[in-house]
Amino acid sequence: PALTSSLLYLDGVSVSFDGFKAIRGLSLVIAPGEMRAIIGPNGAGKTTMMDIITGKTKPDEGTVMFGGSVDLTRLDEAAIANLGIGRKFQKPTVFDFHTIEDNILLALKSQRSVAKTLFWKTAAANQKRIDDILGIIKLGDARNRLAGSLSHGQKQWLEIGMLLAQDPKLLLVDEPAAGMTDGETAETAVLLKEIAKDHSVIVVEHDMGFIRELGVKVTVLHEGSVLAEGPLDQVSANERVVEVYLGR
Ligand code: ADP
Repeated sequence: PALTSSLLYLDGVSVSFDGFKAIRGLSLVIAPGEMRAIIGPNGAGKTTMMDIITGKTKPDEGTVMFGGSVDLTRLDEAAIANLGIGRKFQKPTVFDFHTIEDNILLALKSQRSVAKTLFWKTAAANQKRIDDILGIIKLGDARNRLAGSLSHGQKQWLEIGMLLAQDPKLLLVDEPAAGMTDGETAETAVLLKEIAKDHSVIVVEHDMGFIRELGVKVTVLHEGSVLAEGPLDQVSANERVVEVYLGR
């Protein structure tokens, strides 16, 4: 697929740590509006790939482009975040001693969105955005509760809501279903599908049932490059993918 029509474009990306090639010749293209699931055994390079996209790790070689024209390898982490690339780590980091609503408000007023909130948006417009986000993350009824009182799963949703407040173009989500109950996992799939209606999303996840729920294209990483790509049924029937997962 062409660079110009991509949201995110990685080509021939490699990075080594002390001579060990953690990412080797990785190519990945995410289209605007796409949600993609990334799977792969431990050590496949999933975290390092996310680190490269967000600028935490700089590749030794290769192309990393955003929006068809912005070279991410030349930007630092803050500049990349300001472009609208938001990352959610596995462990939720919410403000336990603030209410849920205030957590979203604090995120709205944080650096990336500050110009859009304090200076020209009215309080009513901010409130509407908060209400919309609370609706998406299904915490509207709990808005006045302290974030610290939420379940692990609800905290994950709140943190996703805080990322949404930053108005990202691309969301990177690391194992959103980890540690969740089956019910919360199912709700999380619904929530991500809702978000994917108007955001591009990359989800790293181990839970195959969850990925099946998402119903999106899957990229399988192995030893730092793409082993297979396609619908879950297709990649999970791929002989090489089966071998990698069975450790043969
Ligand atoms: P995954 O997220 O798929 O489990 P990682 O991206 O964490 O894989 O790791 C890929 C490989 O790179 C692993 O072999 C890991 O040990 C190695 N690695 C990752 N980060 C570093 C680092 N900072 N220093 C040395 N080796 C690293």
